[in-house]
Amino acid sequence: MKLVHSGKVRDLYETDDGLLLMVASDRLSAFDYVLEPAIPDKGAVLTQMSLWWFDQLKEVVPDHVVGPGDDARSVLCRPLRMVQVECVARGYLTGGGLAEYRAGGTVSGVRLPAGLEDGSRLPEPIFTPSTKAPMGQHDEPISYERVVAEVGAETAEELRRITLAVYERGAEIAAERGIIVADTKIELGWDEDGVLTLGDEVLTPDSSRFWPAEEWKPGRSQPSFDKQYVRDWLLSPESGWDKASGNPPPRLPDHVVESTRQRYLEAYERVTGVPFSG
Ligand code: ATP
Ligand code: MG
Repeated sequence: MKLVHSGKVRDLYETDDGLLLMVASDRLSAFDYVLEPAIPDKGAVLTQMSLWWFDQLKEVVPDHVVGPGDDARSVLCRPLRMVQVECVARGYLTGGGLAEYRAGGTVSGVRLPAGLEDGSRLPEPIFTPSTKAPMGQHDEPISYERVVAEVGAETAEELRRITLAVYERGAEIAAERGIIVADTKIELGWDEDGVLTLGDEVLTPDSSRFWPAEEWKPGRSQPSFDKQYVRDWLLSPESGWDKASGNPPPRLPDHVVESTRQRYLEAYERVTGVPFSG
């Protein structure tokens, strides 16, 4: 098989019959750096959780899955022509969205009411697209008008509709399990018949923020089952890292690797309701 793409997290291989084998590695990226060392079992959790969600979302959007790969980290899928927009839906305000809101009262050009704080629930879920930056560069929020300029009004409307539908269905299912999906990012692409199709991964701890509902309290950073824990550690005095310096982050100590691993496993188990078996 031919390696056709190696991203921060996933490697894509082309099979002899023109399909793609997508392999999720154990690599963890944060602030656009790939961290060292890798997180054991992370790749398998991402792939298995995505497969579970693709199944739950069958009525919402067609997906790229053809079948399982040769191990728990890999999946066989149809090659898509990816839309060059990262499709993000937010139901709660935090992270990059919060920073943008504090600076100007909007997120990706969507004006929000005054007085929102870290973790606030939004009046309704919003579509906040960003650029799909090349490796090593940062995705930047863009307005809906810019999406229209890039892909046309009709496709832009479809992107928004599908993104919000995936978020709403995902959030509804997660809520039954005591989890808040604060936000999520999906990637869509056209299949060979020109149908917009869900690709990449979906509703995983890498692409979404998952908060335990019983601990949700706006006005502070929320406890989470996603990689926010690692971001918080990197920014804490314990890591000794100065993000603004432009230096790469330090190596993660064993206890951070293990806590991160536990969070990925717990996300899988809480969402799917089954213990992770790899
Ligand atoms: P980059 O590709 O810029 O490094 P990334 O770090 O997010 O971004 P990964 O998530 O590691 O990349 O790699 C997955 C890549 O595969 C993404 O570029 C994604 O758009 C692409 N991809 C996912 N599903 C499909 C598909 N069905 N057909 C074609 N490309 C796909
Ligand atoms: Mg990706």
